[in-house]
Amino acid sequence: MKKAWKRILGFAILMGVLLLAACGSDNEEGNANEGEEGAADDEPIEVVTTIAQIGQPISEIGGDLVNVESLMGPSVDPHLYDPTESDISKLQGADVVLYSGLNLEANMIEPLESIGEEKPALAIADTLPEDELLTDEEGATDPHVWFDYDLWQQALDAGVEELKEYAPEYADQLEENKQEYFAKLEELGAEAEKLKDIPDDQRYLVTAHDAFSYFGRLNDIEVVGLQGISTESEAGVSDVNDTIATIVEHNVPAIFVESSVNQDTINAVIEGAADQDVDVEIGGELYSDAMGEEGTEEGTYIGMYEHNINTIYDALSGGDE
Ligand SMILES: [Zn+2]
Repeated sequence: MKKAWKRILGFAILMGVLLLAACGSDNEEGNANEGEEGAADDEPIEVVTTIAQIGQPISEIGGDLVNVESLMGPSVDPHLYDPTESDISKLQGADVVLYSGLNLEANMIEPLESIGEEKPALAIADTLPEDELLTDEEGATDPHVWFDYDLWQQALDAGVEELKEYAPEYADQLEENKQEYFAKLEELGAEAEKLKDIPDDQRYLVTAHDAFSYFGRLNDIEVVGLQGISTESEAGVSDVNDTIATIVEHNVPAIFVESSVNQDTINAVIEGAADQDVDVEIGGELYSDAMGEEGTEEGTYIGMYEHNINTIYDALSGGDE
């Protein structure tokens, strides 16, 4: 106890001397000692993410404590995205890098892994329990985990832990903000409830690429993607024909385009169905691998998800003609 007091006293004397010196040299008003000291501690953590599905929630959770930049903007396809030189320098300038992993950013694996040797860089979806992840027919893990808001919450949690570790002085605040944000995520589940009203025989979600399997699992909707879990391989004639057959068989009223994927194959399906006298509409545009413009509702993770819920609900629930 005595020792501690001595240290504090010593520190106080030292501060006094420094303060006097500061006043003496600069003759500013006396309260200059407060602000200056903490300045270095107040620096936000520079966070760089690949997709905005990570960046926007982290920015909301981090508030003033973080500066977040997502490299992939609206309508960018992460499967095909090649990092630019400016991306590389942004990665180098970051304090913490957060990306999705599970081979989503297929052309960025090398720079992301090498930046991980220099600084904290976490593939947040890689932290998820393997038995909760979906795989395709070839055994490749489906990276579109953000469509399972419970799993995505866990992945974001791992990201927040990474930030806490980097800046322990912000840990309490980050934790508090995180709890607040996660409470909002819980509400998404309640909003998705209405999808249960879609009639059984219309529970088909047809999209250009297979991004919605987690969404389908969560909401009990059959997902038909023309292209598989990556956009790397294009849809073939047989994919288009199989999809048309599904639509004709089940009388699927609407199919969906994606904001980050070319619409051609979806158009081919609509034409093919029309040739068989089946009228299928475009049910709207879904956000699959990219979110909406920054500053709009759809530019947020929650807003993007709500948009998809509403678009799917509107297109599949009504039409029973
Ligand atoms: Zn995808």
